[in-house]
Amino acid sequence: MKILVINAGSSSLKYQLIDITDESVKAKGLCERIGIDGSVLTHKVPGKEDYVCEAPMPTHKQAIEMVLEALVDKDHGVVTNVDEITAIGHRVLHGGIKFTESSLVDDKVKEVIKECFPLGPLHNPANLMGIEACQAAMPGKPNVAVFDTTFGMGMEPYAYMYGIDPKYYEKYSIRRYGFHGTSHMFVSAETIKYAKLPEGNQRVIVCHLGNGSSISASIGGKCVDTSMGLTPLEGLIMGTRSGDVDPAVVQTIANGEGLTVDEVLNILNKKSGVLAMSGVSSDFRDLGAAAAEGNERAKLALDAFKHRVVKYIGAYAAVMNGVDAISFTGGIGENDVTTRGDIINRLGYLGIIPDPEKANIRGKKAELTTPESKVRVFCLPTNEELAIARETVRVAGLA
Ligand code: AMP
Repeated sequence: MKILVINAGSSSLKYQLIDITDESVKAKGLCERIGIDGSVLTHKVPGKEDYVCEAPMPTHKQAIEMVLEALVDKDHGVVTNVDEITAIGHRVLHGGIKFTESSLVDDKVKEVIKECFPLGPLHNPANLMGIEACQAAMPGKPNVAVFDTTFGMGMEPYAYMYGIDPKYYEKYSIRRYGFHGTSHMFVSAETIKYAKLPEGNQRVIVCHLGNGSSISASIGGKCVDTSMGLTPLEGLIMGTRSGDVDPAVVQTIANGEGLTVDEVLNILNKKSGVLAMSGVSSDFRDLGAAAAEGNERAKLALDAFKHRVVKYIGAYAAVMNGVDAISFTGGIGENDVTTRGDIINRLGYLGIIPDPEKANIRGKKAELTTPESKVRVFCLPTNEELAIARETVRVAGLA
């Protein structure tokens, strides 16, 4: 059974065709510059050369049509007929307060995705375009919306309500949602499975550290807390996002620089984080190299990043009254062994004993602590596409 996974952005569309029987990726690719001159599709099939096709893609509809043509192409394809695709799973950024679960798409679901445009103004309209393009190109096939916010919907009100008048929740759905939900859901479940954590002993912290970074606490796979909030801006210091700041920072910059609130928010989202702190790069490889050469700003950015991760781990261990396993995932969590090692080395108070032989493991599932360690620490690669494919099978009743 093959599931097509779609992640539609405003001018791009990523896809993977996954055979759910053995969870293998048959093909994957990317449409870029949708609606802009110079649209291009890059289609990758394991063991074959990449197929690059430049052709106009004025809308997501043409992009999906090109993806389907590539999938059935006699030289570059992996299926003989589009009918071999059983269902389509879509990454949708924001489900607002109405979606606590992934949902089979119908007109009502599309309406709610639309109602959430103000909460996800960049992503939700594109996600809906991706869904409608698939419905047009493959009529009758089940489409499933997998929301990035679903995992955070597991939080209790005391964790998701801000310390403000609840009328703003009633009026504007202002609450903490959390993002990277599909990744946190996948990695926390995989941690429980891989570590064979017994029932009642499944307090897991997932550190998703990448260009966007977030951290979650969950018990038995149910979210207790997660660091992103109403938008992905809250929480850890990220590549270009500031993470937590006192809201008075916005006021002070706006008044001082003669900027609007929207303009300051744009700075906090796109021109802050380790990029702005270091003045070097948002990429941790560049930061590590600059710090090693003695660049003080790069060193400070890395130290601030690690400090905040350590702080959140402590807070999450506290709210769960302990922690059984901590997993590192995302580009930095899986690969940046220096940053990850520095964080783990500061968790000795939890009884964590790092295994020096495992310290350099990159990009694969591994336990990083010794058998004596009171809390077990793992490197656990995330796989959001596979998580979406599994959800699609479950929600469409195909299992
Ligand atoms: P992601 O957003 O999950 O793709 O992660 C991107 C981040 O991971 C970037 O900051 C990269 O510098 C970082 N990253 C990826 N590979 C490595 C590596 N081998 N060493 C250090 N950082 C890495």
